[in-house]
Formats: sequence, structure tokens, C-alpha cells
Amino acid sequence: MPVLVMKFGGTSVANLDRIRRAAKRVGVEVAKGYDVIVIVSAMSGETNKLVGLVDETSPLYDAREYDAIVSSGENVTAGLMALTLQEMDVPARSWQGWQVPLLTTSAHSQARIEEIPTHNLNAKFGEGMRVAVVAGFQGLSPEGRITTLGRGGSDTTAVAFAAAFGAERCDIYTDVDGVYTTDPRISPKARKLDKISFEEMLELASLGAKVLQTRSVELAMRFKVKLRVLSSFEEQSDEAGTLVCDEEEIMESNVVAGVAYSRDEAKMTLLSVADRPGIASIIFGCLSDAGVNVDMIVQNISEDGRTDMTCSLPTDQVARAKQALEQLKTDGGLNYAELVTDDDVAKVSVVGIGMRSQSGVAAKMFKVLSDEGVNIKVITTSEIKISVLIDRKYMELAVQALHDAFELEKA
Ligand code: ADP
Ligand code: ASP
Ligand code: MG
Repeated sequence: MPVLVMKFGGTSVANLDRIRRAAKRVGVEVAKGYDVIVIVSAMSGETNKLVGLVDETSPLYDAREYDAIVSSGENVTAGLMALTLQEMDVPARSWQGWQVPLLTTSAHSQARIEEIPTHNLNAKFGEGMRVAVVAGFQGLSPEGRITTLGRGGSDTTAVAFAAAFGAERCDIYTDVDGVYTTDPRISPKARKLDKISFEEMLELASLGAKVLQTRSVELAMRFKVKLRVLSSFEEQSDEAGTLVCDEEEIMESNVVAGVAYSRDEAKMTLLSVADRPGIASIIFGCLSDAGVNVDMIVQNISEDGRTDMTCSLPTDQVARAKQALEQLKTDGGLNYAELVTDDDVAKVSVVGIGMRSQSGVAAKMFKVLSDEGVNIKVITTSEIKISVLIDRKYMELAVQALHDAFELEKA
């Protein structure tokens, strides 16, 4: 039988009523003749609560225990969804990551999927199971421990299952009815897109648009998974939501496809480090070993053989980064005058494939921010995106002003 993957995010399984609603939708697809793999998130707020408990217990926690704790929210919803389907006479069974088993690397709290063997689920489908309800976000390391795939990781679980089982489509049910030109919660003028290219979605996701986890888009692109984002609250037709697809499938598009933001950014500067070969390697090697995800990097012009090195990173990794760099100084591995951090910044980015062929986007972006009196602290660009780091208090203003200036409300 053809296979369909349906993923329900936290708000779509927030209580028993919503689980029933989601289960009904699954029932409709089963009635059409699909074997369905349902991927569930934890009930909304649950993962945050678990992360809070970890932080309170141990600020520089052991990531293996973090994963054991924060993965547990999904176990509850997987069981509840399976029970709800059984109540509707749909043969369903829940699966935790280790039971599948969904095999990952051992990079705890940000593990990558290595393999999803299909024989266990297929054997059960062969015996009459119609729905496998899989706990999203979690997997099993080579050492036999529970891992998690990073926040928002159930999207990636869903796409990986769609690829492994050759699913006809991977439907991501969430609390908005598709991918918008920017977060509809920030700009009332945001417009829903019927289609968006993999590349633009990949940039938007990696720059903060949390509607899809970045890895899920990467996997969909690589394995040619038909990926759709749609609302679990509205009645659906086959054309509902947003299809993430190849660039060639989109006839016309604006130069800028969307504006993304990331609220929880921090800026860190090492003042007066030696300007010589190997210094960047020492600094960023040390941060990487400490599990810090550095994003933007700027090195100043050097004076008298010394320079300043600035980078951006997620706010919740600042403590870890500071500890690692201070340790490096104490050990004598790196000499610098001072470590300065600014926790009050946000990143705002414009993204669009059209930028490849049209110039002037950066100039326009900087003019818009200057007209609003917003100071730019760091800039980075790629072929299809421009990102700036600004004071967090201007973030919403900047997103709205850019959305207006690039006329994204118009198709
Ligand atoms: P789920 O719990 O279903 O995984 P998420 O909260 O992870 O849902 O993602 C959906 C949210 O993503 C929306 O509620 C919306 O606020 C946010 N979002 C950010 N950028 C966008 C965008 N460009 N289009 C749609 N939603 C966006
Ligand atoms: N529950 C996890 C989180 O909140 C995974 C997910 O929902 O995708 O990050
Ligand atoms: Mg999500």
C-alpha cells in the first residue's frame, strides 16, 4: 500500500481534543488506502518545561541526560495518539525512537539521523497495522543511548521517515496554514506562499523561521521528498498549505521571497588576540569542541599585530562559550585582553533566489534600516541572503519595515 507521512506539531497535539482531531484526519487518509506513519511532537510547552527542569538542575548539563529527559514529551503523545486511533477502530501502534530503531550519531542534543531500518514497521504493516505513530525528535546513538535531533526536530524525523519508506508525501501539520513571507505573528501583512523553493526554505529555516527545522528541508531536498506545510485546524483540500519544491516548479517569484528573524542571538568579541596564522582555528576549534554553534564571524583590521574577533551565537550557549574560552586563556592556549558579550541582539535576514541576478538588495536593506534609525552591528551575505545583527528591541520594527519596503504582501 502507498505510504503517507503526517507530522503533528506541539499545538496540534496540545490536548486530548486536538489529538482526536488529528487522529480523525489520519483516519481519512487510512480510509483512502494509505498506510500512515504519524510523527508526533510533545504537547505544546512540554519540551520547554523539560528543558527548564534540566537547566535548573544543572546549568552546564551532561547532554546524555538532557536527551533522556527532553525526549520524554514525545513518548506521551505517541501513546495517546495510538490509543485514540484504536478507539476509532484504526489499527495503530506507537513506536519510540529506539524501537524503530531510528539510528543517529552520538552528538547529543543535536544528533543527526544515520539510518532508519524499515523492516520492523513493515513487518507490522504486513500484519495489519495501518498506522505507526512514531515519537518525533528522538533516536538511538551507537552507544545505545537516547539522542535528540535539536529543537524542532520532529520535522526532520518526519522527512527522514518519508525518505526511508518512499512515502508519497510528507505533510507537516502545524498552527499556521503554510509558509508565509515572514512570521505571521510578527507582521499582519505576511502573505501565505503556495509554493516555495527548497533553497529559499532552507535559508529561511536556518535564519530562524521555525516553521520547519533546517535539517528537514535539507533532507527533503536531497531525497526528493514531496513536502507540504499545512494547518491542523482548518479543513483541508489537496491544494491546501504550502508546497516546498524545486525552483523550476515555481513560475514567477519576487526578488526577495521572505524575511526571517532570530530573536535569541548573542554577540561575543575577543579583544586583542594575536593576528597570526592558526588563531581563528584555535578559537573556533575550542568553541566547536564545546558544542557551540557559531554563526556570523568578523575579524577586525589588525593594529600592531593584534586584532579583535567577533562572532554571533545562540544566547543559551553563551555560558558554555565563555567557560571554554576562559579555560583556553588559563591553559595558556590563547592570549586575549578581554571577552565582551552582548546578549541583547537579534538577527534579521532577507532571503530570495532573485538576488542572484538582481543587485541593489543589500543597499535597499541598509537604507530601510537607516531610515528607521536602526544601527547594524554585524553583516553577512551569501548568494541568496543578507543578514544583519541589530539591537533586539528593533527586531519587529526591522522585520515589518523590510516586509513593506520589498512589497512582500504583493504576489
Ligand atoms: P509546530 O509546533 O507545529 O512544530 P512551530 O512553532 O515549530 O510549530 O512552527 C510554527 C510557527 O513558525 C508558527 O506559529 C509561526 O509563528 C512560526 N513562523 C516563523 N516564520 C514563519 C514563516 N515564514 N511562515 C510561517 N510560520 C512561521
Ligand atoms: N518537541 C520538540 C521541540 O519542542 C521537537 C518538536 O516539536 O519538533 O523542540
Ligand atoms: Mg516545530
